[in-house]
Amino acid sequence: MRRRNLLSLQQIESELQAPLCLLRRRGLKRLTLMVNRRGQVQISIPWQHSDEFALQFALDNLEWLRKQLEKSKERRAQLEKNQPVLRLGGTVPFLGQEFRLRWISGRTRARAEFADGELRVYCTEVDAELWRKLICRQYEAQARWHIEERVAYWAERMRETYGRISFRAQRTRWGSCTRSGNLSFNWKLMFAPPEVIDYVVIHELAHRQHLDHSPRFWSRVAEFDPYHKEHQDYLKRHQHRVHFLESFSLAMDPIATDPVTVEVENGNLSL
Ligand SMILES: [Zn+2]
Repeated sequence: MRRRNLLSLQQIESELQAPLCLLRRRGLKRLTLMVNRRGQVQISIPWQHSDEFALQFALDNLEWLRKQLEKSKERRAQLEKNQPVLRLGGTVPFLGQEFRLRWISGRTRARAEFADGELRVYCTEVDAELWRKLICRQYEAQARWHIEERVAYWAERMRETYGRISFRAQRTRWGSCTRSGNLSFNWKLMFAPPEVIDYVVIHELAHRQHLDHSPRFWSRVAEFDPYHKEHQDYLKRHQHRVHFLESFSLAMDPIATDPVTVEVENGNLSL
């Protein structure tokens, strides 16, 4: 970047009190300004424009950028305020039970695992975003393993066929069934007790006969899950328990600040 550009870049940064980043990517059609998730002012520049032109464009829109930065700051503060806190030594819900969160630091493959009443996070850093990814991956792996088996079990009992099973993390639904019988489940369901997960499986399989929520559909569900109302109610009352899977901050429990260290010898783990 030429000296003059550098000057206007610094000028914009000091005017706005925010870092600036210039982005050039193939396929960009329009010059755009935005405040990204990290609170940086991002200028996306298509090939036909120079950096100089783009910086001038930003300079011309300083007032607008200032307002956007303010809004973004407010949004992030709001998010932080509502963010669930995950505490070492605290618990997370899994299959309707509480599993104690434990950090196992050591040079081993970073992963999270449910075992013996614990959710063990193996990794060297205390980084909420990394932990969240590892934990989500573990919930999803457990869902594949558990729910695929339950679908096979209930499909046989209900004498239904089905197509593909996929797993997602929708915000608003626990499952779905297409006309052609492809099933999709929200892997966050794994927080709930087995009978509640079974209810969702039965619900989706019942859609093989009735694609609506008519009385005939519900009587089909009731045939296989007489407690479906309670189970549905459980999901409504407890769904907030999975919010931490979207974002959380980590609190280190004073008793648990010293991580357990794992030595790796010849590929075997020993505690
Ligand atoms: Zn339904």
